[in-house]
Amino acid sequence: MNRSLSLLKHCMPCEARCCKTSKLIGSPILSENEVKAIGKSYSHVFKKVILPSGKSYYVIKHRGGGRCFFLSSKGRCIIQDRKPLDCLCYPLKYVYSGRGMQLVIDEGCPAAAKLDNKFVEDAKTTAMKLIKNFDKSTYIHWLNNYAYWCKKPKRFGAR
Ligand code: SF4
Ligand code: SF4
Repeated sequence: MNRSLSLLKHCMPCEARCCKTSKLIGSPILSENEVKAIGKSYSHVFKKVILPSGKSYYVIKHRGGGRCFFLSSKGRCIIQDRKPLDCLCYPLKYVYSGRGMQLVIDEGCPAAAKLDNKFVEDAKTTAMKLIKNFDKSTYIHWLNNYAYWCKKPKRFGAR
């Protein structure tokens, strides 16, 4: 895990909004390798989405109240050392647009307006690694079906 990708000082007062409002946020996308790295004992926690092309990706099931399965009762992620790339780079994300890939930000995250340059640069690297883990149509399928906040994101300028 990239230790610089921590927004802890913002996340503590926020109480993990992004991990427990599934109807607003959706679910992170995971590759098969990420699911394997999290461990077999958690295989029941994931839903495998298979496209007609045969390509696939995984999303995380939620507990009651829209809480991510991995969110503890104390509001911490219990897989800190194996966190999905998609969680590490949040609230930033690359999406496909008419002009290619574009960086977007979830303005609903209280930390969104306070990100320092180091975080942004590391998050961009992580977000690029994430998008390249999937072919374009697979990633777009996830964007359209599980990345709810990406429906109305703020487009990042040149940063
Ligand atoms: S919404 Fe933003 S500030 Fe709140 S827990 Fe998530 S990353 Fe942290
Ligand atoms: S895996 Fe961890 S960081 Fe990601 S949504 Fe779930 S609890 Fe939050």
